[in-house]
Amino acid sequence: MTDALRLASDIADVPGVGARSRLAFARLGIATVGDLLKHLPLRYETHKAATSIGETDRTIPRLLEGTTKDVIAVTGEIAALRIQPGRRHRIEATLDDGTGTVRLVWFNAPWLAKKLHAGQPGTASGKAKRFHGYLEMTNPTWSPTDTALAATPSAADAAPAPSGADDRLRPVYPANEDLSSQRIERAVESVLEAAIPQIVDALPAPLRDARRLMPLADAYRTLHRPPEPGAIEGARRRLAYDELFLLQLGVMLKRSHVRVENLAPPLPGSAAIDARIRARLPFTLTKDQDRVIAEIVEDLGGTVPMNRLLQGDVGSGKTAVAAYAALVAVAHRHQAAIMAPTEILAEQHFSSLQALLASSDVRIELLTGAKKGKARAAIVDAIASGEAPIVVGTHALLSDDVSFRALGLAVIDEQHRFGVAQRAVLRGKRGEGDSARPLIPHTLVMTATPIPRTLALTVFGDLDVSTIREMPPGRAPVATRWLPPSESAVAYADVAARIDRGERAFVVVPAIDESDTGLADVSSHLARLADGPLRGRRLAPMHGRLSQPERDDVMRRFRTGDLDAIVATTVIEVGVDVPEATVIVIEHADRFGLAQLHQLRGRVGRGQRPGTCYLIGEPLTDDARKRLEALVETTDGFRLAELDLLIRGPGELVGARQSGLPPFRVADLTRDLAILRDARDDAAALVARDRRLAHAEHLLLKRKLLATYGEALGLVDVG
Ligand code: ADP
Ligand code: MG
Repeated sequence: MTDALRLASDIADVPGVGARSRLAFARLGIATVGDLLKHLPLRYETHKAATSIGETDRTIPRLLEGTTKDVIAVTGEIAALRIQPGRRHRIEATLDDGTGTVRLVWFNAPWLAKKLHAGQPGTASGKAKRFHGYLEMTNPTWSPTDTALAATPSAADAAPAPSGADDRLRPVYPANEDLSSQRIERAVESVLEAAIPQIVDALPAPLRDARRLMPLADAYRTLHRPPEPGAIEGARRRLAYDELFLLQLGVMLKRSHVRVENLAPPLPGSAAIDARIRARLPFTLTKDQDRVIAEIVEDLGGTVPMNRLLQGDVGSGKTAVAAYAALVAVAHRHQAAIMAPTEILAEQHFSSLQALLASSDVRIELLTGAKKGKARAAIVDAIASGEAPIVVGTHALLSDDVSFRALGLAVIDEQHRFGVAQRAVLRGKRGEGDSARPLIPHTLVMTATPIPRTLALTVFGDLDVSTIREMPPGRAPVATRWLPPSESAVAYADVAARIDRGERAFVVVPAIDESDTGLADVSSHLARLADGPLRGRRLAPMHGRLSQPERDDVMRRFRTGDLDAIVATTVIEVGVDVPEATVIVIEHADRFGLAQLHQLRGRVGRGQRPGTCYLIGEPLTDDARKRLEALVETTDGFRLAELDLLIRGPGELVGARQSGLPPFRVADLTRDLAILRDARDDAAALVARDRRLAHAEHLLLKRKLLATYGEALGLVDVG
């Protein structure tokens, strides 16, 4: 039967699994034999050959409370048994093998009680330790020797590993309460020999050899059944390389495709243009703004379409940079479009551009979903005729009937709210050029969420990156105070005092509704404040269950001063700019991520008056405490982003999560940087040789690439 198993076979066809366990496997993401092979161990344990209790007792020093490094197996007879039922279920058994006794303790394993009785022979395996002088094993694996019992399905959980436990490495698989690591191990054992030869290695052999990588089948075999500890790292390296290489390949193909298949209008800068633009701006650009503008102008001057990410912390002055780039396009009689993810942000850009360019006669139009009928038709016409040189808008700009006469530059704010696909639509809004090489606008993507370098190379790898680190002068820094919940009154007293001086406040809570989590929620927290420290002030709720128009309305009232404070969930996170908002209180701050807290803090201190951010929280974990400490210590978004990567790991980062890319299984960007660089170089070289992956030796690779990233990266057109 095993012979007939294919990688695509249903997991239920695996001997010993069966239909009953199918759901349990499915919960771990395992539907097929191939999925099972990809379900890799988290770590390994060394299992020692069976030993005697007396021997073990001697190896752990009497007076020290030490633990054996390895997993040991001891066989004996249950001499005594005590079961403590209830919520904190505990089983305590004494195992005696004639040379000594060891206490076996299981917590919260009520099902095991049925399998244990005094006088029963069996083997316990696990780590042994000395506890108050006694030899003890906590939650060991119990394998009754009684064959009749071992054969019943209910005892299967505890049965020993298939090939015995003589001094070997045992894999520990990600498991859950329905499916133990041992059962996964047995399922893997029963398919390994049949499945391994079916693994197809898509990586071209010359590449594999050049990087000294082991064959893919060997890597899987090694990870599931390591011959020795030293072999594991090489196998892991092979799989990490594969993941990183495949993503880099996708990103490079995408990049080369955009660059080679399309033309952009050359919009070169000049001293005259530069002088004219600077004369219009109400301030002197910072050194960083100057530098990124030089990078952008360099791109704009060429026919290769710019595809650049502009990252800079909140308030670092990205809008002025976008305005500069837009004016370069306008100087060449081309149009510029600036797209924001929400109406309120589009309006905000519109008014800041108007203020910025107040001394010029360049016309700026605003196109959002709110514009209807005649007003909308007039703007759409002005866009089509070219009379509107700069257009700010939401995704309303992407509507079918919107087309530009000569779109030279597309600026997209807050990148990760828009997918790769939407970027492509905006690029396609310029319908000129011959069909073989369409003319597309230069693209500038702006984000306030700093992207750590490693991530910039992967998720956003098809973009060139420009970075603003320096803040414009005269910015009052935001002070950050961390208070325990018992002292939150201090924060709200400050909020009340500021409101009475004409300033405004944000209060952020983690939940929308009262829930059994016991966390503060928007409505009850608002009621508490309105009845207490903020009595008499004008408060409004804001959360994700309000419609976008309702949210925009609250924001507008807050901006104009009709409201004193907003009690919100994290929906206020992105980009909102209210100079009078000087204080933000974040309840349960320990519940939020570092990047998120930093973004929230960026909502205040945007005017002349100094801002304060109160973090209310009592962190329960070390990580949460580190996050709050980091925030108190620095306001540098880039440092915080790097710290975040270290504390949380790359999969959790905003950019990675919202990119729509599947997460890595093996690669870990915090430690696989060298592999990432190799993979990137190799991918670039391969794309340079075979831009369409058309060579026969790249066919497997291409198939795998399209299956994995085709959709997320919009690669369908590569083939
Ligand atoms: P971002 O979009 O990067 O969050 P903005 O472009 O909105 O930041 O700029 C924040 C504020 O700083 C705005 O009020 C803007 O007018 C101002 N600003 C931008 N650049 C400068 C500069 N070089 N000198 C002084 N003020 C500046
Ligand atoms: Mg901005």
